[in-house]
Parts: sequence; structure tokens; C-alpha cells
Amino acid sequence: MIRYDLLIVGGGLAGLSAALSADPKFKVAVISKVHPIRSHSVAAQGGINAALANHPDGAEDTCDLHAFDTIKGSDYLADQDAAELLTRLAIPTMYELDHWGVPFSRFPKGTIAQRPFGGAGFPRTCYAADRTGQVLLHTLYEQAVRRDITFYEEWLVTDIIIRDRKLAGLVAYDLAGGEIIPLRARAVIFATGGYGRVYQKSTNAYINLGSGIGMAYKAGIPLKDMEFVQFHPTSLLGKNILITEAARGEGVPTFTHFLDLPILFVIVALGTLRPTDWTLFLTGTGIAVLIAAGLTLMIPRLYPWGEAWPDGEPGRPGRPA
Ligand SMILES: Cc1cc2nc3c(=O)[nH]c(=O)nc-3n(C[C@H](O)[C@H](O)[C@H](O)COP(=O)(O)OP(=O)(O)OC[C@H]3O[C@@H](n4cnc5c(N)ncnc54)[C@H](O)[C@@H]3O)c2cc1C
Repeated sequence: MIRYDLLIVGGGLAGLSAALSADPKFKVAVISKVHPIRSHSVAAQGGINAALANHPDGAEDTCDLHAFDTIKGSDYLADQDAAELLTRLAIPTMYELDHWGVPFSRFPKGTIAQRPFGGAGFPRTCYAADRTGQVLLHTLYEQAVRRDITFYEEWLVTDIIIRDRKLAGLVAYDLAGGEIIPLRARAVIFATGGYGRVYQKSTNAYINLGSGIGMAYKAGIPLKDMEFVQFHPTSLLGKNILITEAARGEGVPTFTHFLDLPILFVIVALGTLRPTDWTLFLTGTGIAVLIAAGLTLMIPRLYPWGEAWPDGEPGRPGRPA
């Protein structure tokens, strides 16, 4: 029987961070249904917010302002203590990642570069070109290998073993070997990512199906904040590939469909962004309304929301709506 002090299900950024934070005296293993560096975290492009105040327009930024923007951006639904802790720890975390070798983009004087992002009062998003998640995931994986953390990759966890109302271990399916394997652990962390793929349209990877959350639910473990599912309002029509959030950070107007009419939907107008130039915004709105009117006349329906995916669409097998 495989035994560990701590088993972490999930080899994305959350799982790897948990593994690296564990006390080295404990025997730790990470289980992942894909190779860790293929976890969905690899797709994150835009970056991470931290009030480093490196950007010339962000010299006044503080973690309190970052906390305020985070809570406001959540429509005041966020756990405010958690938001305060997150924003305070963001600064040392960024330097820790930097020291571990994350190749962040830089300003000419060598400081970590920052850019504007949705909902942020200052340019505070630290990034590595358009592949922030990829470089973070690779760096954390390298650090985990350096610390001899064991990985069970391409193992699908299927069940939580509960004995006497206590968690006793896990059941995993070794995808390559075809074996069902029980594992014992004194503690288990589930870092199985989001479940955007329960929706028909999502920018999430196809592996984000929520099996971790489903397993916990099946085992009778209470779930919290299930309504907080990340939704990207900017994606390519049809395939739902994300148009980087940095585009919204720069105030780019976007189109959506409402009441079957293409209408201009400007995130700025909903107050989620701070517009930097209202003149530009109004000019842009005028042009966009003209384009929208043209589209309404020329194309009756670009791609109606809520329609089932056509069966056999290239690159995507048919699936029920
Ligand atoms: C297109 C896109 C762009 C994004 N850009 C940004 C950005 O710029 N900045 C930002 O902060 N956030 C961004 N996000 C959000 C961010 O990517 C996620 O919040 C984050 O990557 C989640 O990390 P995670 O470790 O929790 O999950 P994941 O990276 O999804 O990892 C989940 C892990 O769980 C494993 N797993 C799941 N189920 C099982 C199972 N049953 N058995 C075994 N293993 C299992 C998987 O193999 C995987 O290793 C973006 C999201 C998307 C969709």
C-alpha cells in the first residue's frame, strides 16, 4: 500500500504551491491526471496582481488599494479577510517567484514589469510576455523536482476513502498501467482546479470538469462558494479561446449578443474598469455602434448563444448541449 503524510490531488499552480509550502519533514506526493505542466494553469496569459508599485503610473499603489479593488471587483461578495491576506502576501510571493527563477518581463531598470488589468486602479499586473501561467508552472515544477517531491502523473483520482467519518485515503486509476490503486494518507489537499467545462461555453481547458469537487461532494464533504465560477467576457466567437484580459485592461470595447441583437457591451461602462481616456472611449463607442448596426443588417445571426454545438464540428467532437 502506498502511504504518505500528505497527498495533493492536482499538479497545477495551486497543487504545486501547496507541495512547496509543506514542511520538508513530511512525506509528500502530488497526483495529477495529466503531467503537471499540462495542467490548465499553463493557459493563464495575462499575469498576476501585486502592488509592487513598479509602474510609473502605479507609484502610489499599496496592498490596501489592491484589497479594495479586489473586494469592489467582487461586488462586495468576497471574503474580505481573505482578500486582505491575499493582497498583502502577493508582494512577497512575487519576489519569491522571482528568486525561484520565474522569467518575468522587466522594465528597463530591471524591476518586474507591470501592466493595467481589469478592475485594477493602477497598472499592477506582473507578467511574463503572454505566457505567465506557463513560466510559473514550469518554474514551480522544477522547484518541486529539486525538492524530491514525488509525482504520480496521469493518475486519475476517482474516490475518497472515508473511514469512521474521517478521510483515510484515495483511490486512483493509473491511466498508463490500467491499474486501480489505493493510497493512504494522513492528510489530503484537493487542488483540482475549476469546473468551467460543466458549461457549454468556457475558456477553460477540456480537462476542467470538476471531478475533484464532485468526489468531495459524493464523500459528504461540504462545499463552499460554488457560485464563484470564473467567466471570461472576452473570447473568440465559437471556439471560446480567451482574448487576453490585458485587452480589457486597456479598455478595448467588445461585442456580445443580447435579445438576439449584437449590441455594444463595454466593460468600462459596467464600472469594472477605470477608463483612462473617456474621449477615446466615446469615439470608440460611436464607431462600434455603427459597426454593430452594419452587422445587424448583414448577418442575421453570427452565432446565437445557447445553441447546441453542431455534431462533428472540426476539432471538437459533438457533445450534448
Ligand atoms: C484561458 C484562461 C486564462 C487565464 N488567465 C489568468 C491570468 O492571466 N491570471 C490569473 O491569475 N488567472 C488566470 N486564469 C485563471 C487561472 O488559470 C486558474 O485560476 C488557475 O490556473 C487554477 O490553478 P489550479 O492549480 O487551481 O488548477 P489547474 O491548473 O486547473 O490544475 C488542476 C489540476 O488538478 C488535476 N486534476 C483534476 N482532477 C483530477 C482528478 N480527478 N485526479 C487527478 N488529478 C486531477 C489536473 O490534472 C491538474 O493538475 C485564467 C484561466 C483561463 C481559463
